[in-house]
Amino acid sequence: MTVLAVDKLVKHFPIHGGLLQRQVGSVKAVDGVSFSIAKGETLGLVGESGCGKSTVGKTILKLIEPTAGRIVLGGEDITALKPGAMWPHRRRIQTIFQDPYSSMNPRLPAGTIVGEPLENFGIAQGRARDERVAALFERVGLRPEAMRKYAHEFSGGQRQRLGIAKALAVSPEVIVADEPVSALDVSVQAQVLNLLIDLQAEYGLAYLFISHDLAVMRHISHRIAVMYLGRIVELTDKRTLFARPLHPYTEALLSAATVPDPRRRRAKKAIVQGDVPSPAKPPPGCHFHTRCPYAVADCKVKDPPLREVAPGHHVACHLR
Ligand code: SF4
Repeated sequence: MTVLAVDKLVKHFPIHGGLLQRQVGSVKAVDGVSFSIAKGETLGLVGESGCGKSTVGKTILKLIEPTAGRIVLGGEDITALKPGAMWPHRRRIQTIFQDPYSSMNPRLPAGTIVGEPLENFGIAQGRARDERVAALFERVGLRPEAMRKYAHEFSGGQRQRLGIAKALAVSPEVIVADEPVSALDVSVQAQVLNLLIDLQAEYGLAYLFISHDLAVMRHISHRIAVMYLGRIVELTDKRTLFARPLHPYTEALLSAATVPDPRRRRAKKAIVQGDVPSPAKPPPGCHFHTRCPYAVADCKVKDPPLREVAPGHHVACHLR
């Protein structure tokens, strides 16, 4: 059952210039992204810094307004909802940040922080709230006595558990997790990822998991979408993506990440040499042609659509 569907999502940020500060261009951060996520499924969104993956997350959360496209949450179109109308839907879609500390009031005890959404959404107050918060603490692997501590007294991994408890408090259907483990040590990363996997199995949660880290993606995702300059260039199940990547960009990302010998790793990395072009001025045709070792003449002028080349395997490349 689909719980989140995104159709041709676009987010352009205007660039202003000149004496009159007129719009002189736009940054095409997200440029026609479509996908869906089922109950109990994790869709990984991977790509280099600046590819637009975090903007997809913020737009879906309605923290920023989309320029075009549709966002359908649990069968309801939330694309054009204003903040007031969006409020009842906010409990259905929650987020976990890379740095949960930045979103926590340092002067409030952890129990109050996790219990806040329960009060805000009128779910529980007083003793009922405290009991629910204590149960949430235990469920994410924190002792209920820790409810009295302050955020700075927790380790990075414990803070992320607090962030998860806060997101979980209102029983959401979808969680957007933006680089939730990238600031943690590898051993702690695995613990937090395993917790998220357990919670998904228990509550049927759908995750949109945003990360630049392929090892993390491999651990948690069911399907993976690879983004490049605001577009999805490949989307398929995890096993197929790692065994038979079809897009040259995916191939290059995987080669750079998985070759154990550092000298060979450097050689493979040459495939994706050069910086990502500016999303304010993406190359014409295939956005990847300036870095692609297989580019042909057509690639510079024709934009390859994202096509289903095998059941469930979508690729945007003229050669596939
Ligand atoms: Fe490379 Fe051309 Fe395929 Fe783009 S369309 S990825 S430039 S071969």
